[in-house]
Amino acid sequence: MEAPRLYSTKPAQSLKPSKKIPLEEDHGKASDALPLPLHLTNALFFTLFFSVVYFLLSRWREKIRTSTPLHVVTFSEIIAILSFLASFIYLLGFFGIDFVQSLVFQPSPDVWIAEDEEEDNEVLLAKEDARMVPCGQALDCSLPPLPPAAPIVTVQKVFDEKPGTVTTEEDEEIIKSVVAGTTPSYSLESKLGDCKRAAAIRREALQRLTGKSLSGLPLDGFDYESILGQCCEMPVGYVQIPVGIAGPLLVNGREYSVPMATTEGCLVASTNRGCKAIHLSGGATSVLLKDGMTRAPCVRFGTAKRAADLKLYLEDPDNFETLSVVFNRSSRFGRLQGIKCAIAGKNLYIRFTCSTGDAMGMNMVSKGVQNVLDFLQTDFPDMDVIGISGNFCSDKKPAAVNWIEGRGKSVVCEAIIKGDVVRKVLKTSVESLVELNMLKNLTGSAMAGALGGFNAHASNIVTAIYIATGQDPAQNVESSHCITMMEAVNEGKDLHISVTMPSIEVGTVGGGTQLASQSACLNLLGVKGASKETPGANSRMLATIVAGAVLAGELSLMSALAAGQLVKSHMKYNRSSKDVSKASS
Ligand code: ADP
Repeated sequence: MEAPRLYSTKPAQSLKPSKKIPLEEDHGKASDALPLPLHLTNALFFTLFFSVVYFLLSRWREKIRTSTPLHVVTFSEIIAILSFLASFIYLLGFFGIDFVQSLVFQPSPDVWIAEDEEEDNEVLLAKEDARMVPCGQALDCSLPPLPPAAPIVTVQKVFDEKPGTVTTEEDEEIIKSVVAGTTPSYSLESKLGDCKRAAAIRREALQRLTGKSLSGLPLDGFDYESILGQCCEMPVGYVQIPVGIAGPLLVNGREYSVPMATTEGCLVASTNRGCKAIHLSGGATSVLLKDGMTRAPCVRFGTAKRAADLKLYLEDPDNFETLSVVFNRSSRFGRLQGIKCAIAGKNLYIRFTCSTGDAMGMNMVSKGVQNVLDFLQTDFPDMDVIGISGNFCSDKKPAAVNWIEGRGKSVVCEAIIKGDVVRKVLKTSVESLVELNMLKNLTGSAMAGALGGFNAHASNIVTAIYIATGQDPAQNVESSHCITMMEAVNEGKDLHISVTMPSIEVGTVGGGTQLASQSACLNLLGVKGASKETPGANSRMLATIVAGAVLAGELSLMSALAAGQLVKSHMKYNRSSKDVSKASS
């Protein structure tokens, strides 16, 4: 069913008044003072004017014929002359002054713009209001009409933008060859041996090809060498995301300032409030339950019997030693922990779990799995490897297997929030929080058929920390699986809150963690890079911090909901007072 539209979707107006501007109201006409309707007065004066002109001309001809001096006038001629003058003055006033007015008081383009702005503001207000109704009603799912295609410009530099490092004639030649398609854009880094220059040239070529400006997407101030072959291909700049700090978060007796990269107003402020409530209550305790990354290839046999043979072989404890020796060859840090198989007819899904030190571990586990698959080919030559990932892993997709079995780090984090703190800092009561948690996070999520989503907004905190610390943000899907529990304790005075998160996938080495900004955020938390004392200690610590921050986020948002403050605080922090229509133009 199509969602009802809450605001006009008519195309934007051009810079013309949508209705006639009532100039008359502002600058009155001479005719406004007339006692008769305008058309009657006009008719009267027109008739009078032409009648007296006719009369006077005929009298003039008569006088010439009879040689009567012109200055000798009769009474009727005097009346006719007066009538002529009166009607002449009226007609001059009506048409002449209106004509002059129309020249003097031309509607200026500013008036049109002001009116258009008013209209834009109305649309914006309607949009903002739309956020206050249930989302199904607020959404207008229709796509906006596409702007006309930009002309493809192939030769001239089209943007008056800061050229970055694109300055030389040689660069200009390379840009032209990228635009013409003779130099592949992806080959610029290897051809030039200078990643920044390659990015600048690619960027300029892209602007010319698309006819679209990239001004606003910064180019300078980034180390393009650091992402080569690891983090991002064919860069043309970088997106800036502000990093806010929530904390200190007191977990396991240590204080952490938690970096959160986000553009969502309220999020950091709210998490910060949760941290304060936890701190004032003596801190949270975060326990790591499991630490193992998974990968599950899909292999196929000619019969289900053969697939079952392999399942039994892999799950036999007597074979584990051999398999782990083969698996562990791939890395100093990857250590096989277990193998679990699921069978679908002739197809077998083999879920390998291994520890990965301080790395999130996807590469590490994949290498180990490849070793085992190669090894198995000897005893199972009829095994056909369909794919090293068969989705039973399961990476970056909601799946019950992660929720139940865990993936990466499984953590439970708890705190007892004092009744006083609940009242004074969180502005609600223990009773309201417990009831809301039961009806929203448990019952409401059950009604929605949630998979790991028994929480208020774990994914908000997880994703913001992931972006700040160089984790893979796509893994927020399973990393945000969380069940939030609340219970009144100490004779109902205090609140026990916990978050249980079975699949937090984090690392402090590899991937985006080594980039300058992300590594600075890891450093702030004291978990940068590989742990020297105990491999894996840094990434495990990071997982406990993530869970602690989620606890803070849950506490604060749930309190805001219980106290009915949510909309108010979003209006304060999440609604810009800036005129968005002006900013976008
Ligand atoms: P991932 O497996 O998370 O994708 P990488 O493929 O980058 O990450 O693997 C991590 C790399 O870091 C490996 O080459 C590994 O040998 C190295 N490394 C160094 N110190 C550690 C550590 N403490 N824990 C895990 N890996 C480490």
